[in-house]
Amino acid sequence: MKKVFLITGGAGFIGSHLAENLLNAGHKVVALDDFSTGKIENVMPLKENPDFELVVGTVLNEYLVDKLIEKCDAVFHLAAAVGVELIVKKPLESLTTNIKGSEIVLEMAHRYNKKILITSTSEIYGKNTNGPLKENDDRILGSPLKTRWGYSTAKAVDEMLAYVYWKNKRVPSIIVRLFNTVGPRQTGVYGMVMPRFISQALENKPITVFGTGKQTRCFLHVKDAVSAIVKLMNEEKAVGDVFNIGSQEEISIEGLAKNIIKITKSNSKIEYIPYDKAYEEGFEDMQRRVPDINKINKLIGFSPTYSLMEIIEDMISRLNNQKPQQRAPAQKSSLKQSGRKN
Ligand code: UDP
Repeated sequence: MKKVFLITGGAGFIGSHLAENLLNAGHKVVALDDFSTGKIENVMPLKENPDFELVVGTVLNEYLVDKLIEKCDAVFHLAAAVGVELIVKKPLESLTTNIKGSEIVLEMAHRYNKKILITSTSEIYGKNTNGPLKENDDRILGSPLKTRWGYSTAKAVDEMLAYVYWKNKRVPSIIVRLFNTVGPRQTGVYGMVMPRFISQALENKPITVFGTGKQTRCFLHVKDAVSAIVKLMNEEKAVGDVFNIGSQEEISIEGLAKNIIKITKSNSKIEYIPYDKAYEEGFEDMQRRVPDINKINKLIGFSPTYSLMEIIEDMISRLNNQKPQQRAPAQKSSLKQSGRKN
């Protein structure tokens, strides 16, 4: 059945892929975005589609959010200040958007009794280096005066709000925690490591590895993240619950840099930059972050379809298509053999 979905942050990196997925499934999409980090280019191709509507505005505008939620069937709440560098540079704006914005969106979902999925983050777990991290594992955070922890704290408030709106007011809400989602259209401007390393390698510039580079992450292709999000929205048993969404293919940041240099056949060298210089004095990084994905696997059969190498290849080939003058040496892609439905 054709539905109308509101996506807050619909012109962002993940929001635009989600919009594409829903339109391809025959739904109508209203994307709300204030272009703080979202970009018009992300949704340019979608503007041709009569089922796509772009509304330029902020989730802090209660009147606007009220009107948009009133006329939709369900809400994907993605609008947020994201990216560690952005959070560290603009702590106040980030806190306001992330806490106040979510409160407004949840309150309107309550007013009109609409189902809502809110996107949270693996930052929730803070410095807990145990792995794989389960949804009910402990959060280990540093001082709230260290701006990095503001993001984790704001998202934890969002999660609590969503959960309490469900428990006390029966607003059907679902929480997802995204672990390092990457893919085409992601920008390195706000600090995200993968697009940044790829651009640096394609331009033969130094690859900026922060700290020792021994810290590890698991990267998930945005298409895998989006298909999981959509399935959860359609799954009644997901309501009132929280799910990790991520890959379990763990790699050190130094290892990632080396792989990207190899795949792009770049002349780039690795430049190690201390955290104090890269972010701010006293900056604390997560040394390890691996999700436990048993819960989401059991409920909707989720498992990633893109390997790390396939993700890197996909991002490079899309960048090359956009900027022919910066073409990286052609590499044989393994994407075609994966049998994945794109
Ligand atoms: N990082 C890096 N160089 C960069 C950007 C990021 O070494 O130019 C590191 C960052 O310190 C972290 C990891 O890469 O350890 C992942 O960073 P990102 O901001 O992409 O995501 P996070 O997992 O920190 O949310």
